[in-house]
Amino acid sequence: MVAQKPAREIASPNHDSRQPGQRIDMLLLHYTGMETAEDAFLRLKDPSAKVSAHYVIEEDGQLTRMVDETRRAWHAGVSYWAGDTDINGCSIGIELVNPGHEFGLRPFPEAQMAALESLSKRLVTRYSIAKERVLGHSDVAPIRKADPGELFDWKRLAAAGVGLWPERMNTADWATLHLGDSGAGVMKMQVDLKNFGYEIDVSGSFGAPTTVVVAAFQRHFRASKVDGIADRETRCMLASVMAARS
Ligand SMILES: [Zn+2]
Repeated sequence: MVAQKPAREIASPNHDSRQPGQRIDMLLLHYTGMETAEDAFLRLKDPSAKVSAHYVIEEDGQLTRMVDETRRAWHAGVSYWAGDTDINGCSIGIELVNPGHEFGLRPFPEAQMAALESLSKRLVTRYSIAKERVLGHSDVAPIRKADPGELFDWKRLAAAGVGLWPERMNTADWATLHLGDSGAGVMKMQVDLKNFGYEIDVSGSFGAPTTVVVAAFQRHFRASKVDGIADRETRCMLASVMAARS
C-alpha cells in the first residue's frame, strides 16, 4: 500500500464548455511523451499549445488537477470512438508522466499506478463509465497516437474494477489474417473492431488502414506483440473483448 499524496492544483487555460446535456461517459488515458514532468506542465499550461488534461499523475504518484471535470479539456485532438468525434466532450482525460516512445517509453511505477487506480475508481463510479469506455489515446486516434503505450498495465487497472480485461477465450481455431487478405473472415473482424468502437471501414479487405487498427487493438489488449497481424491470439482476445462488453 503506497501512501497517497494530497492532490495539487495547477490551472490550465486550455479548456471550454461541454455541450449542454453532454454526459461524461469515457475515461481517456495518455502519457505526456515529454522528457520531464516540468516540460509537460509547461506545455499543458501554455495557451498557445492549446492542450490540457483534467489530471496529471507523476511517476511518484503526485496527482495534479489542471482542468475542472465539468469543463471540456483538450487532450484527445482529432479522434473517434463508436461514431463520436467529440471525444474531449464526453471524456475525462488523465495524463501519466512518461517520456513515451519518442524519449524512451518506460514502465509506469507502482506509486503512479496506485494513484491512477484510486483516481480512476472514483471517476468511473461518479460518472457510471462503462468498462469498455476506459480507453487509451491510441484507441481513439490509432493513426496519430501510441499512448499510453504497450507498457501500460490495463490488466492491473481492470483487476481494480476500471476498464475491460476479459479472460482470453480459446473457442475457435482462428486463422491468422494479415495485410492483403480478404473475405468473410476479414469482414467479421472488421465488424467486431467497428462495433467495439474503432474507426474502421468494413470492406472485407485487409488493407493498410486495417493493419493500423489491429495494431491499436494489440497495443491495448495484446501488448507483447504489436505488429498489425491478426494472429490467433489477437483474434481470440478480440472475441473475448466482444463477449465481455457490458
Ligand atoms: Zn495522448
